[in-house]
Formats: sequence, structure tokens, C-alpha cells
Amino acid sequence: MSEIALRSVRDADVAGKRVLLRVDFNVPLQGGVIVDDTRIKAALPTIQLLLERGARAIIVLTHVGRPQGRVDETLQVAPLLSRLREYVQSGALDMLENLRFDPREEAGDESLAKELAARGDMYVNDAFSNSHRAHASMVALAKLLPSYAGLGLMNEVAHLNRALMPPPRSLAIIGGAKFETKEPLLQNLLAVYPQVLLGGALANDLLKARGLPVGVSLVSAQPVPEALAGEERLIAPDDLVVAPEAAPTQTEREAHTADVRIDERIVDLGTKTAKEWAEKIAQSDFVLWNGPMGVYEKGYVEGTDALAKALINSSCTAVLGGGDTAAALAQFTFDPHRIFVSTGGGAMLEFLANGGSLPALDVLRT
Ligand code: ADP
Ligand code: MG
Repeated sequence: MSEIALRSVRDADVAGKRVLLRVDFNVPLQGGVIVDDTRIKAALPTIQLLLERGARAIIVLTHVGRPQGRVDETLQVAPLLSRLREYVQSGALDMLENLRFDPREEAGDESLAKELAARGDMYVNDAFSNSHRAHASMVALAKLLPSYAGLGLMNEVAHLNRALMPPPRSLAIIGGAKFETKEPLLQNLLAVYPQVLLGGALANDLLKARGLPVGVSLVSAQPVPEALAGEERLIAPDDLVVAPEAAPTQTEREAHTADVRIDERIVDLGTKTAKEWAEKIAQSDFVLWNGPMGVYEKGYVEGTDALAKALINSSCTAVLGGGDTAAALAQFTFDPHRIFVSTGGGAMLEFLANGGSLPALDVLRT
């Protein structure tokens, strides 16, 4: 695999230009109130750079939520623009209404791209987390104007490039659910990582394919291909936390993988496995991690948290992504240069599965 190189906004001639800046301000909004503005703050370096370099206007483009092509008053961008203006006091800053109110956005429609392009002289994408989608403002628009990657996007790609070409003592950890969607990713990772640890519901699929009992655990409809199941460098947990079907939060117990009963559900890594995997992290130079090790949102956080702690206490560099994984890390303070948390869950997985190719990145390549 080769490194992905994008045209950086640092190299753009910005002075006097009207810049269309595509960001991902898809922040949690409750009754028009912003719950978490991390995504807004993430765009500030690019906006500052554009202003310093003399941009005449910055027209911010974003989507919020999934209005599915209909105008939805609860998903209007007004609160986002006011919050942004609290950080950047500049008359040059403006924002268009939620792009997804127009069905042509998600359809990748050329006519919408043309209407947007007419408002600017150049285009900057600083929305890595949306770059796996070939939407009008992500791809068609980038083709109509001189187009560049924003600083946040450049930074994401620099870190993810490292995950594509990891140093020798590296470890990949993949959790979450939906084995069938992650199978191409696992194949790619096995080509470059010495070991891939599989947790979460993905592990259930692997254990089942290896002939072990999984009770009533969540498994994919499609079986794991035999060759993949037989891959020794694909590591499944050795012990688990299991919960009885009837009372899923009350009387869970620890069980060896051979001892899961027919009425039990796998909900997390066992203590022994979590400890062994923490040691593997400590012995690595680089760790890639996406996805929780258990049913995180139901409180089965121990496996995930143990690995997060191990990562913080280690000296390895790491790239991770996915909502639950990021939440596990967020409980601790750490050096964001050593442990990079991607803004993209889905985009990160697709980037890694496709060897760095994503629809909205491919149009920005040098
Ligand atoms: P999504 O894209 O829907 O967030 P992910 O692939 O990120 O899916 O997986 C996250 C989900 O995986 C979480 O909802 C978590 O509860 C679930 N999960 C993790 N481990 C298990 C398990 N052992 N059994 C069932 N679900 C699990
Ligand atoms: Mg997820």
C-alpha cells in the first residue's frame, strides 16, 4: 500500500477568494441546544488559516442529522453558526442551511454542486468523518472548483497513513458488530499487522466459526469464511463475560470460551483476556483500534476500559476511532499526539479497508 497525499489548503492561494468550506458539524442538538461542540472547535485551525491568508469570505457547508431531504426545524444550522461566531469574530464568516434538507445532497447531484460552486471561488474539505460518502458537497462540488484538504483532514490522513503502513511491532484491535461489513478490513489488516485482536460481537462470529459455543450471543447472518476463521494471527478472546438471556444485567459471570451455555449471551472480554491484551498493547510500538470490546452502552465497559487504560499507560503511538472507543479514552487525560483519536468511525474503517481510497479524498489527491 502506498501513502495517500492530498492537496493541502496550506498550499492554496486564498487571498481575496470566497472559500466554500465543507465541515462536519453534525453535533448532537437537543431542542436547538448544542450538547457537544468538539466538531465545531475542530474546524477552527482551518478557518483561522483562511482568515490569516486573506480569504474574502468563508461559506461554511455542513449537514446535521438525517433529515432525509426534508426541511426539519430541529436540525437547522442557526445555533451552529452562532457558536462558531463565539470562537471566530469575523464578518467574513457565513453558513448555508443544512445541506441534507436538499435531497440532491445525498444523491450526489451535479445540479446542486453547480449551485453551490457558484457561491465560491475555491473549495476546502475539512470533513474527514463524512469523506466516505459521495455526496454532492463532498465529491461533485470538489470537481467544479480548485479544491483542497483542510488542516483537520490533512492531520487525519497523516495518522491513518501510518495505520496503513504500521511499523513491525504493531497491533490491530477491532471490535463492535457486523462482521460481514468488516471482513474486507480484517483481510487487509492481516496483510500488514502481525496480529489482529477481535473483540465485541465480531469475536462471537469468530468463536462460532471455530466451533465454540456462543449461546444466544449476537452473531452475523453470514458465516465467517473458513480461511479467515483458520487464520492463527486473528486472535479471539480466551475468556468472556456472559449474561443469562433472562436477566441480562444482573447475574453475569466469567466463562472460558468453551463453557458458554446455550441460554447465555457474550457481553464483554473476560478478565484474563483483557489482561493479556493489555500486555500485548504494552509490548507494541503502534496500535490501531476501532470498536468496543463489549456491549458498551449497556454498561459492559470493563474490557474496553482496560484496554484504554493500557494504551494510556503504554508508550506506544496509537490511532483509534469509533464513538465508544473514543468515549473510553475520553475518561483519561493523554497526549493527543501520541494517541490520535479519529473524528471518523465509518470513514476510518473504510479508509483502512480500501487502502486509503475514499470518494471525497480521491478528488483531492496530488
Ligand atoms: P455501529 O456502527 O452501529 O456503531 P459498531 O460496529 O461500531 O456498530 O459496533 C458497536 C456496537 O457493537 C455497540 O452497539 C455494542 O453494543 C456492540 N457490541 C459490542 N460487543 C457486543 C457483544 N458482545 N454483543 C452484542 N453487541 C456487542
Ligand atoms: Mg460505531
